This record gives sequence, structure tokens and C-alpha cells, in this order.
Amino acid sequence: MQEKRRGMLLVISGPSGTGKGTLCSMLMESDPSLRFSVSVTTRAPRDYEQEGVHYYFVNNEQYDELIREDALLEHATVHANRYGTPRKPIEDLIEKGYNVILDIDPQGAKEVIRKCPDCVSIFILPPSYAALRERLAARNTEKPEEVERRLNNAKGEIEQMGVYQYVVVNGDGEEGKQKAFSLLKAIVEGEKQRTTRYFPIVE
Ligand code: 5GP
Repeated sequence: MQEKRRGMLLVISGPSGTGKGTLCSMLMESDPSLRFSVSVTTRAPRDYEQEGVHYYFVNNEQYDELIREDALLEHATVHANRYGTPRKPIEDLIEKGYNVILDIDPQGAKEVIRKCPDCVSIFILPPSYAALRERLAARNTEKPEEVERRLNNAKGEIEQMGVYQYVVVNGDGEEGKQKAFSLLKAIVEGEKQRTTRYFPIVE
């Protein structure tokens, strides 16, 4: 039987430094039905980051304008920088049947879960606070006081993980990462099979 599928919105969140970005990239590479939602941010680009690939880099005025136009599905200030999810590209992709991944912070994730109750929400948990501290330090992109700030935020975020449908621990090393990836894949594949996303075309 022919079929038409409506895409799903996958919200992947968790404390900064849990490795959710890496897991999202692995998912993207493994599944051509997935599209990554490129956020806007007022933060300065890192060396390796490309405009329109990792983020759309905007200034405060441009960001305020997007909020005024209601062009963002959610927006939040995360670790002193501002981030937001453009609404229109997501709506278009889902309509075309693509599954869209949002890699966003827990404030934004809560907002999307509230506004889009049929989204699939997954919380990525670090194996321990010690591991999270090590990962943040090893990344070498934040100063020590910023690492402490992110760790403090992580405590509150983990306490609220019950708002998500799924939790996946991103364990240490290659094995931990591969296990987390397999679990994520299983969730995505299962969620694709929901009857609510499936429209058989009867000839
Ligand atoms: P980074 O600056 O390290 O790229 O990201 C910092 C945090 O902001 C990460 O937790 C990331 O998931 C989150 N983030 C990225 N884009 C968005 C967005 O559009 N909205 C929200 N709420 N958080 C975002």
C-alpha cells in the first residue's frame, strides 16, 4: 500500500556538555529522513562554525526583530547568550515528511514540549556530574568559571527531566556513546511507526 508520512519534531535536550551535539550529528548521518534545525544565536562563532550550518549568527537588534515578528518557535538566554529556533523552516520540512531535530537547551525544550504536544522529547543525561565536569573542561571552549556556571545549571535541568518522554544516558568512552546512539535510533524508529504519522493512500 502506498503511504504518506507526516514528519516528526524531535526535541533533543540536556545539560550543556552531555554530548547531545555529537549524538545529533550521528543521528543525522545515519538517517536521510532527518533534517537539523539551524538556530539563530547572538553568540560569536567558534573557529570551526559556519553560518547557516551550525547557527545563523545575528546581532541583538536582528534577534529582537525575529521575536517581534514571532518568527521563533522558542527562544532562550543560555549561559549569557541568546538562542532561538526559527519556526517556518520546521513547519515546511514537517509538512514535506522530513523529521526535524532540535538540539536546544532545557528552557527552550520545555517551551516546545508545551507548544507542540506531538513532538518527541528526549533528555540526554551524563553518567555523572564528575563526567560532565570533565567533558566541559576537555572541550576547552569555556573558561573555568563558565564551566562551573554550566554545572550549576545542569543540576536544576536534571531535576526537571520528567517533562521529557525519554531519557538516554550518554555514557563514557566510545562504548557509552555507541550505546546512547543505539537507544536514540531505537526511539526514532519506533516513533516513526506511530499510526498518527501514517496516512495510507487508498487507490
Ligand atoms: P553552544 O553555545 O555551546 O553551541 O550551545 C549552548 C546551548 O544552547 C546548548 O545547550 C544548545 O543545545 C543550546 N541551543 C542551541 N540552539 C538553541 C536554540 O535555538 N534554542 C535554545 N533554547 N537553546 C539552543
